[in-house]
Amino acid sequence: MAEYKLLKELGLDQPPTPADEMGVVEEFEMVREKYPQIPRTILLKEDVLRRGVTFTTAAIKEIQDLPVSYHVYILFQWHKMDETSGQKIPESIIFRDGTYTSVLLSPPEMDPYTIDVKDGEFWLFSEGEPIEEVFFDPAPRYFGKRTSKGRLMEEVLGHGRRLLYVIPVQHCYYWDKGDRGCKFCDMNYIAKHQLKIGRSVKLRKDPEDVYEAVYEALQEKGRHQEMFFTGGTNPRNDFQNEIDFNIELVQAVLKATRDATGDPNHHLPVFWVGPPLSKEQYKMVKEGGFTGYGCYFEIWGKEKFELVCPGKAKYCGGFDGFLERSLDAVEVFGRGNVCAGFVPGIEMAPPPYGFSELNEGVESALKGYKFLFQKGFVPSGTNWSISPGSYYYKIGATPPPLEFFAKYGLGRELLLEEYGKDICSDILSNQCYATYPEYQRLF
Ligand code: SF4
Repeated sequence: MAEYKLLKELGLDQPPTPADEMGVVEEFEMVREKYPQIPRTILLKEDVLRRGVTFTTAAIKEIQDLPVSYHVYILFQWHKMDETSGQKIPESIIFRDGTYTSVLLSPPEMDPYTIDVKDGEFWLFSEGEPIEEVFFDPAPRYFGKRTSKGRLMEEVLGHGRRLLYVIPVQHCYYWDKGDRGCKFCDMNYIAKHQLKIGRSVKLRKDPEDVYEAVYEALQEKGRHQEMFFTGGTNPRNDFQNEIDFNIELVQAVLKATRDATGDPNHHLPVFWVGPPLSKEQYKMVKEGGFTGYGCYFEIWGKEKFELVCPGKAKYCGGFDGFLERSLDAVEVFGRGNVCAGFVPGIEMAPPPYGFSELNEGVESALKGYKFLFQKGFVPSGTNWSISPGSYYYKIGATPPPLEFFAKYGLGRELLLEEYGKDICSDILSNQCYATYPEYQRLF
């Protein structure tokens, strides 16, 4: 049997328990028992992200009349099926202890959790049994308002609990010249799908619209505390066009925060999840107004990275070039101000993209985290959702067992505790589509 040194060091090298023959509730209970140190609601969040959800007719009908925060447009990596109903789908659910989870719609073959109404309350059901009461985030007050150009503000500015986000361009150029999009990503597909079903998604944001939407959002005092930018990338001109446009937009954001608060020194923390750049470019980005940066490796290791993210590999000097440029980001922005993004779960995509052994996949990701935490990165990313339009969906990939996420999340947190004490931070902590913020509750 192969030996996994890092898993052993962390006390996580026990062999995985086969779950293929288990029902979903049985699998959940098995993992609970095997990893009792993980709070139930954190494990539940992992499983809700893994299996997705569906709504009963009664629940979805009731939601239509509630002022809940709903999904206006989708960037990528969201539903596990095409959503065409045109109904109001809540963006997230919140458990009683505050654990905050994405609503990823999922077809029956994925064994989704069901959201139904029980005695006037919304509950999550699994195999017909009520599991947990759920609540919805109220819609921010800027939803429903329009910019002076007539655009709905929720189409300009995304919202998730206490954070705001801007998608500067919802199109990734890695697909334009050759099929070089990341294998798990559906960005260009989902942009087209949303246009097809009649959503007025503007693929390139207008700085004036962004100014007005942020100004309006900040009228709701104390609600929005951080912001990030993310979207498709454009390698032309060594990413300079993308940098210039992002700086133009962040300047609009910062002007809006100053004007809305009346405080000339007010600075909303704004992160840009972008391509790895040169040191000079990072300095430009920092001076342009961004507080931090996100370098998304997606998967660790040269071989897997170059297979899974061929566009990133081609335009950023392969894995080694990507890593070198990411390390430069920490030098410019400082320890704790640069996120290393992964897509937990893709380590178990069919080989050669992923690994065939669960422990091998977790060990590989944890080696990456160990190195990155020592270098001052903080964790970020989105749990794998196998969405239509992605390469993995087309080849019929299936999600990893729940135990994968238990080991992964626990191992990542143990490493952060050991190597990243000075960098544990709350940046991008309001994430509904990943569990790294929740695991920080353990210590
Ligand atoms: S860089 Fe990769 S993950 Fe990001 S939008 Fe492009 S294809 Fe998708």
